[in-house]
Amino acid sequence: MNSTVFERQPASESVIDHSLAPSVRKAFWVEDAGRDASTPRFAGVADCDLAIVGAGYTGLWTAIEAKRRHPQWRVVVLEAKEPGWAASGRNGGFVESTLTHGESNGRTRYPQEYERLDKAGLDNLDAIEAAVNEYGWDCDFWRVGSLAVAVEEHELQWLDESADGEREIRLGAEQVRSRVNSPTYLGATFSPRDTAMVHPGKLAREMLRTARELGVEVFRRSPVKALDASPQHAQLRLASGAVRAQRVALGTNAYPSLLKRFRLHTVPVYDYVLMTEPLTAAQRKEIGWSGREGVADLANQFHYYRITAHHRILFGGYDAIYHFGGRVRSSYEERPESYRKLASHFFTTFPQLEGVQFSHRWAGAIDTCSRFSAFFATAHHNRVAYAAGFTGLGVAATRFAAEVMLDQLEGQSTWRTELDMVRSLPTPFPPEPLCYPAVQLTRSALDRADHREGKRGLFLRTLDSLGLGFDS
Ligand SMILES: Cc1cc2nc3c(=O)[nH]c(=O)nc-3n(C[C@H](O)[C@H](O)[C@H](O)COP(=O)(O)OP(=O)(O)OC[C@H]3O[C@@H](n4cnc5c(N)ncnc54)[C@H](O)[C@@H]3O)c2cc1C
Repeated sequence: MNSTVFERQPASESVIDHSLAPSVRKAFWVEDAGRDASTPRFAGVADCDLAIVGAGYTGLWTAIEAKRRHPQWRVVVLEAKEPGWAASGRNGGFVESTLTHGESNGRTRYPQEYERLDKAGLDNLDAIEAAVNEYGWDCDFWRVGSLAVAVEEHELQWLDESADGEREIRLGAEQVRSRVNSPTYLGATFSPRDTAMVHPGKLAREMLRTARELGVEVFRRSPVKALDASPQHAQLRLASGAVRAQRVALGTNAYPSLLKRFRLHTVPVYDYVLMTEPLTAAQRKEIGWSGREGVADLANQFHYYRITAHHRILFGGYDAIYHFGGRVRSSYEERPESYRKLASHFFTTFPQLEGVQFSHRWAGAIDTCSRFSAFFATAHHNRVAYAAGFTGLGVAATRFAAEVMLDQLEGQSTWRTELDMVRSLPTPFPPEPLCYPAVQLTRSALDRADHREGKRGLFLRTLDSLGLGFDS
């Protein structure tokens, strides 16, 4: 088996120790966006037209779009902790047009409708940009594109296969290094239109502000314990009361679904992130990166990284950790070996930055599903809609999901609700004790492929042919 560049050129233990020493385990974006203390808790009994569970991007987009469509509706959002505290406040801030976790996954799974999904994804990204401008969201939204970089020889061929000259422009090693200077880069594709970068925490904060301004009632620290329905309405039960609603949208992501039959359709997979201190002017000169485009490398276990408005670098990805039992727990966010690995890979990528320290480290749960792109379900005679399974690419796709759920709750048949992607469901994961070994087996097979020039072994090829998989 071949080694990867990150194994051939690791950082020394002392460089890693020094870099991580000041880091606190906290999501930088949430801290930087500031906490909104004015959101009340729910208590009592309420009736509304639409109740939304979860105040991440899915819930907040649903609230904003519902008020745009129906200004007269009473819309209530119930959030278990704080708005935007979970994945929506912890992600890399890559706002990607793809609704299908990339072109290859999309074309394989939805061959008949891929072109339509591709266009819908671009329209969705344009609509997000329009909302940022219309509502004046202060969220460092930059439509700057992204680089997919090859760091191993065999990955160059993948670049050649994907570059089309228009949406994806092929760059040689010197060209990519003149944008972002890493000695590991052998080539890249640049996608100027398909990706924007955003400050995730500020985006959530601004969406909350707009939702409120449109008249949405948002409640924090108000976990919903149960959902049931009668012919007249749906009912959400909380420890502090109950909400009766004509319609319910569930945006609960990696957390257990209130619709029990969908609990095996996603598994929570932990993804790890580091954030550096702000770079000095001299350090910035060493690495270039004046265009602020996002960067991701190409292996199965990949890194994603980006630069912030104040010249910090976020570096995340690689490990994708599933814990036996599939629970979401804050104790899973502390995983020293994942942070140390990330720090080492950071200095392999940017050896010029040796001596830089990380101020923050954090992790978040990703709602992985076996087809890697969102799925949609309705229940209780279309009174309840549910969207999840974004599998690490939900910053933009959650807006599309909000539109789908609203179409469904309005009882409308639209081009969105007619999509195969919307009408079909992913294969559920097996229950424990089978799920854990199945995921571990898949992870080992992906790791082996990364060490064999990307060649997928029999196990992965069988999963591919069955349309099954595991990804972050
Ligand atoms: C580390 C990391 C990096 C990522 N990077 C990217 C990226 O760069 N680009 C990208 O496109 N995607 C990325 N993602 C994925 C993206 O962040 C998510 O797909 C997206 O934020 C999902 O939004 P959401 O609203 O569905 O979920 P969340 O933000 O997780 O919100 C769900 C909310 O529901 C609440 N909730 C759950 N159950 C209940 C209940 N019973 N009652 C009340 N409230 C409840 C939770 O408290 C939570 O606030 C990343 C994710 C992680 C974790």
